[in-house]
Amino acid sequence: MLKIKRLRTRLMLVLTTLLAVVLLAVFAAVLNTTSNSAERQAHQQLDVGANVLDRLLALRARELANAAEILVADFGFRDAVASGDMPTLASALRNQASRIGADQALFLDTDGRVRVTSQGVVAGIDDLDLQAMQPLPQGGMLAVLGGQPYLLVEALVHAPRLMGQVVLAFALDAELAADMRTLTGLEVSFVTREQHQVVDQVATLTDFVPASEQHGEAMRVLGGEQYITTRLELLSEAPWAVYAEMLSPLREALAIFDVLKRELWLIALLALAVSFLAAALLASSLSRPVSELAAMARRIGSGDYRAQASLQRSDELGLLAQSIDQMRTGIAEREQQIQHNALHDPLTGLANLARLHGRLDESLQARQQGVLLLLALAEVDAIIRVHGQAAFEQAIVDLTGTLQLEIDHSELIAYQPGEGFFLLLEQESLAQAAVYADRALELLSTEVRMPGGKQSLVWLAGLVLWPEQGHNADELLRRVRMAVSSAQPGAERLAIYQSERDQAYQRRMQLIRDLRHAERLDELGVVFQPKLCMATGKVLAVEALMRWRHRQLGPIGPDEFIGLAEETGSIGLLTTWMLEAVMVQQQRWQAAGWFIEVAMNVSTRDLENADFPSQVRDALERYQIAPHCLSLEVTESALMRDPEGSIVNLRRLRDLGISLAVDDYGTGYSSLATLKSLPVQVLKIDKSFVLNLAQSEDDAVIVRSTIELAHNMNLQVVAEGIEDEASLNWLREHGCEIGQGYFISHPLPAVELAQWLQAREEKVTQGS
Ligand code: C2E
Ligand code: CA
Ligand code: CA
Repeated sequence: MLKIKRLRTRLMLVLTTLLAVVLLAVFAAVLNTTSNSAERQAHQQLDVGANVLDRLLALRARELANAAEILVADFGFRDAVASGDMPTLASALRNQASRIGADQALFLDTDGRVRVTSQGVVAGIDDLDLQAMQPLPQGGMLAVLGGQPYLLVEALVHAPRLMGQVVLAFALDAELAADMRTLTGLEVSFVTREQHQVVDQVATLTDFVPASEQHGEAMRVLGGEQYITTRLELLSEAPWAVYAEMLSPLREALAIFDVLKRELWLIALLALAVSFLAAALLASSLSRPVSELAAMARRIGSGDYRAQASLQRSDELGLLAQSIDQMRTGIAEREQQIQHNALHDPLTGLANLARLHGRLDESLQARQQGVLLLLALAEVDAIIRVHGQAAFEQAIVDLTGTLQLEIDHSELIAYQPGEGFFLLLEQESLAQAAVYADRALELLSTEVRMPGGKQSLVWLAGLVLWPEQGHNADELLRRVRMAVSSAQPGAERLAIYQSERDQAYQRRMQLIRDLRHAERLDELGVVFQPKLCMATGKVLAVEALMRWRHRQLGPIGPDEFIGLAEETGSIGLLTTWMLEAVMVQQQRWQAAGWFIEVAMNVSTRDLENADFPSQVRDALERYQIAPHCLSLEVTESALMRDPEGSIVNLRRLRDLGISLAVDDYGTGYSSLATLKSLPVQVLKIDKSFVLNLAQSEDDAVIVRSTIELAHNMNLQVVAEGIEDEASLNWLREHGCEIGQGYFISHPLPAVELAQWLQAREEKVTQGS
């Protein structure tokens, strides 16, 4: 079956079909009634027809009877009969017949033989060719004469005795039928049958065919026309039968209803057209809003929430439109919320990192320039620990308000928990951005009231510039974090991202800065490197070397930080710390019955410090350490910078009983004279000459002559940087007293040194 998808079409179809069915029913009813009434009318006409025929026959019979009576009463006629004057008889018969319109006029003698007819004297025919005869109720007789039906009337002729009879005949012929038709408007026929054979028929209808058998009224079709017929028996004398058949054409009866039918058709068509239009209107008034709502639902589905439902109706469709509209705003709001949540920080309502990331990428793609600023709160962990997460978050929310209110140059302010505020400063120069950053730091670095009391917040800022310092959002974010991590409370609270070269500088700055706090932060340590007595193979001394483990940067080598400390004047702090550390360690070892000389490195600044010798003396006294258990190493270059200035302190230290060594000998261009004037006992050949001793002939020459020189000046020789056995052996053979180097041992923490010495002693005792 055909499926009609559109509501509108379906509605129209249903409504129109319904009306069509109703109209059809009305039509059928009307048709039925009219045809019934037409039939009834036809029947009435037939009844009338039958009556008329009755009357007509009766009339004729009476006329004929009168004419016959008049004829037989006529004296001349009687006379002619009596005289046997046949020609006169014939003429009288003829006159009378033509006067009353009879078809036949006969004179029969008393024997019943026909003697004269209206046509003339009958010679050959002596009898009437009478085949059947029956009296008619209307009067007269119906007879079949020579196979044709006639209405017969007879009258006896007395002159005065009975002389014969006159018969007048009237044919039931086409003329009578035509008269009947004119009178009744019916088609009329007269049929004569013998047995079942039609012997004679006359009819007004040319196409008339007699029906074989019929009782009462019947419906017949003749020549394509419908008739209601009725048959009137006139004579029935087996085998003869005569009847009249009258036909009433239905068409005529129906014709009067044709106008009615035409009007009905017109009304039906009009009604159909109007109802079709009305259905179309109704359907479209239903389907248009439905389509409109469907289109709206589609739009909502595709994520377009702008269009409001324009349908203003008070019916269910209007209600549906209202509901859809509510749904639209609901979905739009929720989607907006979801979108907002995806790109915003729930605490501050500011953009989150994802949004910032997107904006940065957009800006980079647009080939714009700008500055990304990160504001980070220092020591967040401590604040949360003391005041709790909630108080911290409240402080952040408050500060967000301040920031939004005061900093309106930022294209975007984002917040990332655990990191801080990110500000996107588009189209800003670095200098301008730095000004904004400073302003932001000032705003944020305030004192806030928290549950655990007042808390001053210290904020740090990092800046990175694009496109110069990063070509994508990830890189920029990484670098701005690096920048902020290099910022320090105080003057360094604002840090600009530095490229690698600048980073080295930055690192130096950071080390310089942090060195002051290294001791406080417990980042300093000490390791000890054994010094081997070449002659005995015993370790009677160690060199204390400083170590610094920076909390962010990890282990920092002394070569890096000692120089910085000397430059910036913080070396005094380190020396003090080292002295204490060495003393503590010495005390422990001595308490354990272990007496060993510990060498400590001192710098120029220490020697320039007039208090240094007394500081050392105090320490020795405080820890009850014998001065010969401590030795000091001073680099050649330090000594040579201000020999006269340092000589006072050296003397005082020497006077305490402390052994003094010239460190890194060979790198400082010292003159022999100066060397001689210094109160030193040991000369440490710089490791640069020792490291490749076994391979380098030049180094060997230098070392050998240095040993000789030292011995000439009564100085003990220490070689540091011995990394292989060959060098060790060579040095021993050439009279070097003490050796130090990785081949013997790396510098070790105190605990490991003890284990190392223990193991070595056991080996020596086993070996000896
Ligand atoms: P230095 O006084 O000449 O110390 C010897 C350095 O040579 C140490 O480096 C040591 O680890 C290294 N060394 C020892 N044996 C070998 C070896 O076989 N091969 C090589 N390549 N190197 C060896 P470290 O500990 O890095 O110290 C570097 C310098 O830092 C020291 O040179 C010293 O001048 C200075 N320094 C270390 N601690 C202190 C201190 O407490 N105060 C002062 N003022 N300076 C210190
Ligand atoms: Ca040294
Ligand atoms: Ca050295």
